[in-house]
Amino acid sequence: MATESFVLKVLDVVEETADSRSVVFERPAEQAELFDFKPGQFLTVAVPSDQTGLAARCYSLSSTPADDALKITVKRTVDGYASNWICDNLQPGDTLRVLPPSGIFTPASLDTDLLLFAGGSGITPVISIAKTALAEGSGRVVLLYANRDESSVIFAEELRALAEQHAERLTVVHWLETVQGLPTPPHMKAFAAHFATYEAFACGPGPFMKGVIGALKELEFPRDRRHQEKFVSLAGNPFGEVEEVAVAAGEIYEAEHEAGETPDSEGASSDPGAPQGPVHVEVELDGQHHTFDDWPADKPLLDHLLAKGIPAPFSCREGNCSACAFRLLEGEVKMEENDILDDEDIADGIRLGCQALPTTDVVKVTYS
Ligand SMILES: Cc1cc2nc3c(=O)[nH]c(=O)nc-3n(C[C@H](O)[C@H](O)[C@H](O)COP(=O)(O)OP(=O)(O)OC[C@H]3O[C@@H](n4cnc5c(N)ncnc54)[C@H](O)[C@@H]3O)c2cc1C
Repeated sequence: MATESFVLKVLDVVEETADSRSVVFERPAEQAELFDFKPGQFLTVAVPSDQTGLAARCYSLSSTPADDALKITVKRTVDGYASNWICDNLQPGDTLRVLPPSGIFTPASLDTDLLLFAGGSGITPVISIAKTALAEGSGRVVLLYANRDESSVIFAEELRALAEQHAERLTVVHWLETVQGLPTPPHMKAFAAHFATYEAFACGPGPFMKGVIGALKELEFPRDRRHQEKFVSLAGNPFGEVEEVAVAAGEIYEAEHEAGETPDSEGASSDPGAPQGPVHVEVELDGQHHTFDDWPADKPLLDHLLAKGIPAPFSCREGNCSACAFRLLEGEVKMEENDILDDEDIADGIRLGCQALPTTDVVKVTYS
């Protein structure tokens, strides 16, 4: 089940640049399917900490789904805890606890033309998308990759080799601050204007992403052809309590039924806009259709699905990583926290499962 964490063995640690390292994990043979992933997805790792027990952090996979091993690439954050711990401590033979791959920063089809923007360590999910599309898809791939200087370019050699191997389909444009200064929104707009029919993916520092997304909006790239991945640190701990939360939620529900309470009592809410009884919810996930008539109005959809044994995806459970995002097909929910979805995501019906409380009596959603 996606709620479980697993201990992976470190096969190799590769120094990519002076301040970034890749960590290569063995794919767990017994959980092979759980560790299948889509290009652009990430692992959540548990970095040991004397202070807090562990610090949970997400790291995008820079390897491709077809590779034998799982590789993440970590850039040191100045004064950061987890990134420096990983770069300073992990050695081949060590182990690390991880949650299986997650995330929605991935192309729906590998055959579309892709316009990729990466800044610094933002190349990690982007190179996985590029390599997979070139190996398995048929479209063109254009990459604008911004870095401080030549020595800070992660995967420089690999990109050179890919561009040589796929000269007809891949164009890589390096943007070095030392040479050209910072890439500004007008630069990005002028660049993207040549590829107005492509599907765009952007990952990098905040101002870089803001510039890219702003440019794409001005060029009227529709929402479903604009994707971004935000690199934020999780404040909470999705490890450890996971199993207990899932079981406890189910037990509470059963206990109340045994005690003769109606589901209404649990579903009732002081919010006048909330449904007064439990909600009918239909969920499409991994090609399966699930229907429940007992979603309490005060329980996030993710918690309800996990309690029912449905392996709904999640990571931070705090409304800031989007691993649990779904699309509304019918009805409405409200979110307690949302640090990741923008107004257009909301307008498109995207919501966060970990924060979603029903506000209508019937809700239908899809995770596809
Ligand atoms: C979907 C996603 C994908 C990502 N992919 C990548 C990627 O591919 N590559 C990459 O480099 N980054 C990636 N990131 C960013 C990454 O998750 C971290 O945010 C980044 O590495 C910075 O983490 P840090 O702990 O080093 O720094 P910070 O989060 O800035 O560390 C400081 C924090 O750690 C806490 N802290 C300090 N000391 C301790 C201690 N002893 N114990 C516990 N906590 C402590 C402090 O409270 C402080 O809040 C991704 C993020 C997301 C959401």
